[in-house]
Amino acid sequence: MNNLPIQTIALLPDHIANQIAAGEVVQRPESIIKELVENAIDASASSIIVIVHKAGKQAIHVIDNGSGMQKDDVILSIQRHATSKIKTSQDLERISTLGFRGEALASIAAVSHLEIKTRTSDSEHGWSLTIEPLEEHVLEPCQTDIGTQVIVKNMFFNVPARKKFLKSDLVEFRTISETMYRAALSHPECRFTFYDGDTLVFDVQQSDLLGRIEALYGKEVSQGLLPLHHETLEVVITGFVGLPHLAKQSRAGQHFFMNSRPIISRSLSHAVFQPFEHLIEKNMHPFFVVNLTLDPTKVDVNVHPQKHEVKFEYERGIYNAIHQAVSNALSKAHIIPEMQFRDQVSDQPFERLSIATQFGSKTPDAPLYVNRLTGEIIHQTDHNPSFQLSDSGNITPQHRTAFEHLFGSEESLIQSREQEQQSPQKILGSMWQLHAKYIFVQHEEGVMIIDQHAAHERILYERALKALNEQGMQGQSLLFPIPLQLLPEDQLVFMQIRTDLEKLGFTFVEHHGQVNITSVPFDISAGTEHEAVQDIITQFREYEELRSQSSRDNLAASMGCRAAIKAGHILTVDEMKSLVQDLFACDMPGVCPHGRPIVLEMQLREFDRRFGRTS
Ligand code: ADP
Ligand code: MG
Repeated sequence: MNNLPIQTIALLPDHIANQIAAGEVVQRPESIIKELVENAIDASASSIIVIVHKAGKQAIHVIDNGSGMQKDDVILSIQRHATSKIKTSQDLERISTLGFRGEALASIAAVSHLEIKTRTSDSEHGWSLTIEPLEEHVLEPCQTDIGTQVIVKNMFFNVPARKKFLKSDLVEFRTISETMYRAALSHPECRFTFYDGDTLVFDVQQSDLLGRIEALYGKEVSQGLLPLHHETLEVVITGFVGLPHLAKQSRAGQHFFMNSRPIISRSLSHAVFQPFEHLIEKNMHPFFVVNLTLDPTKVDVNVHPQKHEVKFEYERGIYNAIHQAVSNALSKAHIIPEMQFRDQVSDQPFERLSIATQFGSKTPDAPLYVNRLTGEIIHQTDHNPSFQLSDSGNITPQHRTAFEHLFGSEESLIQSREQEQQSPQKILGSMWQLHAKYIFVQHEEGVMIIDQHAAHERILYERALKALNEQGMQGQSLLFPIPLQLLPEDQLVFMQIRTDLEKLGFTFVEHHGQVNITSVPFDISAGTEHEAVQDIITQFREYEELRSQSSRDNLAASMGCRAAIKAGHILTVDEMKSLVQDLFACDMPGVCPHGRPIVLEMQLREFDRRFGRTS
């Protein structure tokens, strides 16, 4: 028999248990600041001052004007699991405060020197509590303002290993600063003042979210924002998303708040990014401040010690709601990508061509690039390392204006379309076709270049989507029914989408077990009816595999792809005109259903600049 030593179990003394718990809650100065600021917010403060010394390693001072604590509560506040925020296990199911575990102050007290000064509004004087681990707590009356001040010094003095793991002041300060930005953004109704030693980092007054963003990030950002608003049964999405030109290489300008709690979620970030695909480059991150308001019982915030990871009951629904909110905002703004030649030609979306070519350039093997999205060829010579045709960002109100200049305002456009009365003079000579492929539209500020196929595809796609989601379109009847012959696997798809095809203007009649096409949408030209149905089915199958969109969306995209005019199709001026008009009446004229750009823009002032004209 083995004589194994007998293990006896003993409860850890409180101060050790607290140190272990502290390991989770208090990892670095930033986590202390986060907890103290959360406490101030939970105490309904309308002003919070944070002062850090040596990135918080030397001292942290947080002052609020919130509710304060009474004498007995001050003592309790530093006990583990002492909280005023939840009382029953049901409360845990619907947490609306930032804190709830009653662990932060106890943990901070376990690894540093802590001093709390606090006073409630109904009390003549306040209380000061000084705690140094293993020593008697000192609680005494003091003169102090209403609210609470917490001073933390000598962090990790008794846990040297942890202290060693702290990063440089610069890095620690950066994480603190990020936390301060998040706190300030999540509670614009509260004033935040943030000092690095004697240096003021920011002092932002009470305001609304837009005002807060402006105070923190400046006018350039606040003026480049699109408001978000979308409601579903599960969630209300509000906040702002930045125009494409505000996108950055880092994620620093990305903020999610769930019921005012900062949260991190890769999947939700993707929901914002997705509608930007092809408007910004792959490695860029759009700016956003997104607030999710939802029933606290439908989300579990108690899954992570730092409480910034949450579990949603309807993750998918929330993803979709955010996606929708951002798509709506972008489509309302009619974002159009802009023709840009960069200083540093990156391989995204530009691809370097390997063929050496002369093309009039002095250096025979000057690198040549092709924009994979647009097919445009870009020369890079020593004399012309950068060629940027516009620097105004992707803001579309300008395009709108340009468009209105050409055709009149949107209202008059609708009128003129209704009356079929346009003024060709205004446009004649201002529009021409290049290589039966691109339409050039001259306008006040320069020229827009439109990909005719992509434009028509967008128009047909939106029209089809509307028909599918609303009451459907009329088709044109065929003189002679055309028998539909499909492979078995296509037949299955046909059965699945038949009703939707009928909404697009097709009709099918069965005769002795044979399905016949009896009418087709007006966009399908005579003689190609059977081929059209076959192509739509093939395309639809492909999209169902490749795209994450709904079946209806895929069908609309298939219809657009099939029926759109192709490159090589020569257009009359009137045809060009109505194509451009229809395009700009679309919800999202800037990108085709596959996300490729439809319109590019070149500014006149850029031509002037290039030609050395100063006007
Ligand atoms: P929790 O926030 O999870 O309740 P804490 O350890 O952070 O736990 O705080 C414990 C308790 O101390 C809180 O529940 C609250 O009652 C009180 N408290 C802490 N900070 C403040 C403050 N700044 N103002 C008023 N009360 C506070
Ligand atoms: Mg707390």
